[in-house]
Amino acid sequence: MSSLLPCCFPVCQSEPLLEVDDLHAEVEGNAILRGVSLRIHAGEIHAIMGRNGSGKSTLAKVVAGHPAYTVTAGTVRYRGDDLLALEPEDRARAGLFLGFQHPVEIPGVSNLEFLRVSSNARRRYKGEEELDTFAFEDHVRDTLPIVQMDPAFLERSVNEGFSGGEKKRNEILQMALLDPLVAVLDETDSGLDIDALRIVAGGVQQLARPDNATLLITHYQRLLDVITPDFVHVMVNGRILRTGDKGLALELEERGYDWVDQEDADSLAEVGAR
Ligand code: ADP
Ligand code: MG
Repeated sequence: MSSLLPCCFPVCQSEPLLEVDDLHAEVEGNAILRGVSLRIHAGEIHAIMGRNGSGKSTLAKVVAGHPAYTVTAGTVRYRGDDLLALEPEDRARAGLFLGFQHPVEIPGVSNLEFLRVSSNARRRYKGEEELDTFAFEDHVRDTLPIVQMDPAFLERSVNEGFSGGEKKRNEILQMALLDPLVAVLDETDSGLDIDALRIVAGGVQQLARPDNATLLITHYQRLLDVITPDFVHVMVNGRILRTGDKGLALELEERGYDWVDQEDADSLAEVGAR
């Protein structure tokens, strides 16, 4: 069905990896997403910007399958299949990755073992051989340089006592090991100093390939100084009101979000007046 629709951008000839269509979602009875539509193709880096409370994390959590959020209308297709029909763990096995805005600490669970179990689940799905403890440790050590991480972090409990920057680096390490097809990174840049930001952004860039896609959710332009997105979307009140290129992010940096809101108010007034 989707292939019959005209494509919004000239570069996208193939089926989207992720296609969100008129998505509405609520949490605890409050409507948060009010008609989000988005198409992400292999090889693309997208950024969603928007002020706090606009619904960015809600979109990420709905796509990942967080149980607190209820989809009330619309569809999400992943490689053409109904993503919303899949359990969260099946979405992850199939290659969807969510990097959390606030990564959780899991005391008592070894980071190395956590990474091994999750990575093996993904390998099984891809039909690849699972790695035992020794083989996996070698594999992780080869991967650590992507985020310039000290091997000592492997021996600790997942994220326990990690600084904000270390948690975000651990998220990108996890991403590297899971080898997702669609990575949704929610405010991966928040709370990072400039060095950590460069490391995290560099890791994300190294992992971007022609066969995968990245969706960066960010409040600030500064991440986009390091990673150049192909498309920038502005979310306001649970909808994407604007899509452009990197220039749009620069415009937001300069003018803030108010002018987009104003245009939203104007367009709603126009609809109301009809
Ligand atoms: P953003 O990531 O853009 O800052 P969020 O998606 O986190 O925005 O939040 C959008 C809105 O949804 C906010 O008004 C927030 O208070 C509300 N919201 C998010 N999660 C919950 C929840 N679990 N319960 C009630 N309201 C929520
Ligand atoms: Mg958020």
